[in-house]
Amino acid sequence: MNPTPLRLLVHGASGRMGQALLRLAADHPDHLKVVAAVTGRAPAQRVVDGIAFFAASELAGAPAFDVAIDFSLPEGFDAIVQLCVERRAALVSGTTGISQFQRERLDAAAVTVPLVWASNFSLGVAVLDELVERAAKAVAGWDCDIVESHHTRKQDAPSGTALTLGAAAARGGAQPHYASLRAGDIIGEHLVQFTGQGERIELVHRATNRDIFARGALFAARQLQGRAPGSYRVRDLLDAPAG
Ligand code: NAD
Repeated sequence: MNPTPLRLLVHGASGRMGQALLRLAADHPDHLKVVAAVTGRAPAQRVVDGIAFFAASELAGAPAFDVAIDFSLPEGFDAIVQLCVERRAALVSGTTGISQFQRERLDAAAVTVPLVWASNFSLGVAVLDELVERAAKAVAGWDCDIVESHHTRKQDAPSGTALTLGAAAARGGAQPHYASLRAGDIIGEHLVQFTGQGERIELVHRATNRDIFARGALFAARQLQGRAPGSYRVRDLLDAPAG
């Protein structure tokens, strides 16, 4: 058990992911303590369940923290990256839709602080990423197809996760093709299929609950503790024992 809990700043705290983070962090008071919750607009209440809430415009006044966990929007991204650099605090970010310029700022921040940015914080997808790369290397020349399925409200296609898995396949030498299904309330399914002559490998991940992303982000926050500055992938942190 840690002698003192890890101090977290949750950025995007009123959103679906932010709320899941606050709820799950509260289950581990011996390891995790949320010291600030930051929302885009002025919070309706200043203190909720003992947690201090701040508006994004008040970010500079946030108390000391060890790790910021950011699931907000691209317009809030630069400010939290800058604050982490100024405070020498680690950063875990799952905010999607960031620009190339914002990615470059993230790379620059990694010179000063340890950080993880991922389009999918599920630990299962991190394992799948590794398996896909390994399979692609092993079955050179086979067709590689990635089929992703999501709920009908999702607008981008292929999903960021499908593209991340495609990049893993490409590192292994495959040339992935993509297909996207939008149906009902599917949280997220990714099938990576390698097809040869008379045989086929199917690697699949199914998400059944959004909490997996929040749990993965909290896992990453704990694993970043004590690490040297740099940009880490979730899969880099998987082999380390939980702190
Ligand atoms: P949401 O719309 O429910 O919540 C967004 C939050 O960001 C709110 O708290 C809002 O107040 C805050 N916000 C808005 N503008 C801000 C600003 N300028 N500064 C600070 N905070 C600001 O969204 P959500 O479903 O919780 O998702 C949040 C982000 O996380 C999205 O980018 C989404 O795509 C991404 N996401 C990533 C993963 C992953 O595993 N990487 C999983 C789910 C969602």
